[in-house]
Amino acid sequence: MSKYIMAMDEGTTSARCVIYDKKGNVISSAQREFRQYFPEDGWVEHDATEIYATQVSVAQEALLKQNLTYRDIAALGITNQRETTVVWDKATGEPIYHAIVWQCRRTSEYAETLKAKGYEEMIRQKTGLIIDAYFSGTKIKWILDHVDGARKRAERGELLFGTVESWLIWKMTGGKVHVTDYSNAARTMLFNIHALGWDEEILELLDIPKCMLPMPVECSGNFGETIPELFGGPIPITGAAGDQQAALFGETCFREGEAKCTYGTGSFLLLNTGEKPVFSDAGLLTTIAWGLDGKVNYALEGSAFVCGAAIQWLRDEMQFMMESPESEQMAIDAGSSEGVYMVPAFTGIGAPYWEPDARGAIFGITRATGRGQIVRATLESLAYQNEDLLSAMAKDLGKRIVALKVDGGACRNDFLMQFQSDISDTEIVRCKSIESTSLGAAYLAGLAVDYYTSKEDIIENKEVDKVFTPAMTSEERKHMLSGWHRAVRAAIYMTN
Ligand code: ADP
Repeated sequence: MSKYIMAMDEGTTSARCVIYDKKGNVISSAQREFRQYFPEDGWVEHDATEIYATQVSVAQEALLKQNLTYRDIAALGITNQRETTVVWDKATGEPIYHAIVWQCRRTSEYAETLKAKGYEEMIRQKTGLIIDAYFSGTKIKWILDHVDGARKRAERGELLFGTVESWLIWKMTGGKVHVTDYSNAARTMLFNIHALGWDEEILELLDIPKCMLPMPVECSGNFGETIPELFGGPIPITGAAGDQQAALFGETCFREGEAKCTYGTGSFLLLNTGEKPVFSDAGLLTTIAWGLDGKVNYALEGSAFVCGAAIQWLRDEMQFMMESPESEQMAIDAGSSEGVYMVPAFTGIGAPYWEPDARGAIFGITRATGRGQIVRATLESLAYQNEDLLSAMAKDLGKRIVALKVDGGACRNDFLMQFQSDISDTEIVRCKSIESTSLGAAYLAGLAVDYYTSKEDIIENKEVDKVFTPAMTSEERKHMLSGWHRAVRAAIYMTN
């Protein structure tokens, strides 16, 4: 058995490769950014060929750094920016258009027309998603509508579609394997999450030929081998999952009721709901967590657009600090936010309020308010937003979650973690390794080749760094939450 597992983490701005040993220790890693294209206001594109070349080159670099060869790698797992859409020519392997990135809003008008025609409930029941330009479906349609002759060529079987993991697998297997894993398929708005297949009715509605779509497969299994010219010899590709689902897996949230929150630029909360999809009345998304060993786990997903980005704003625009981690001591020194509430609605408010045009606000300022109070109120606001998602999940589920695992850059902030625990009355578990996304891909790949014999084998790897337990009275919690909700309502009231 080879010694290591390779994870490719293909993100929105950079491609990373991490090589892990069995214990989940990082043996080697490399990372490189690739170009972002903004051809029009609200449009975001990537060059899929550049993504592929960048991803392969960082993998080669990670091997080289530690003098490793393909023989040292038992298997390769991929995790990726979700929803981003690639359409390519099957014969030449050339994309027919830039990849349309998840952030791209070019199809929002079309998404609105689908809503206006009353398709929302049908799409929600089948795919678990709300109708939005974010998902791949309307992006594929856009390419077929706008690239000369594309739809005819797709109908003739000359074009293929894939999200990024699907594209990378196809390229790395020399065009032999055209698959997508369930967790990525579930983000296309074309995938029936109950039947685990492409939905004919939605395909017809969007006029997308089925023959261009990849075969949906479980997240762990034998997908194929990399062509020998990439790494000197073949490496089996045996794992794939979208970034948030991979993070849920990497955090070992294997059982129903387990949840994780990633505190990055934005925050992403995912709750494993077991083998049954749970539908949300609060506008949360229902998605596939993973398919594994003939079973599918579903998840409820909620996200806040702004999380660490609010701290970045305090740092870069307000110049309240030099480095984001300084926010912790500033908040502690402030002693209290003294009735100041920050609503970080820089790009509207998402679940459960859905006010896309709302703007941010700071309330409760007095002559005594200083930077410390504003920093503290901002950190608190990140926790309040997550609490709103947690309580929406609790409503959908009929019970509250009891523990939350955390990762992402801002989870290093102990003040924020303790406040999250207090305001959500929930235990917060932070592990030593907060690299859960690439770790999740490595675990999925490792399970397929018996590098790990079971999920229990993986759980043993988890080393807890710190557990935060609630230490706030319920009166205080109620009082603070009620102030937050009033602040959010006031911010919404100010929306044009
Ligand atoms: P992403 O992967 O979305 O780029 P990261 O997981 O690297 O983000 O997290 C970085 C974000 O977290 C930045 O917005 C940064 O301002 C914030 N951040 C990092 N460390 C801290 C900290 N100790 N306290 C508060 N915010 C932090």
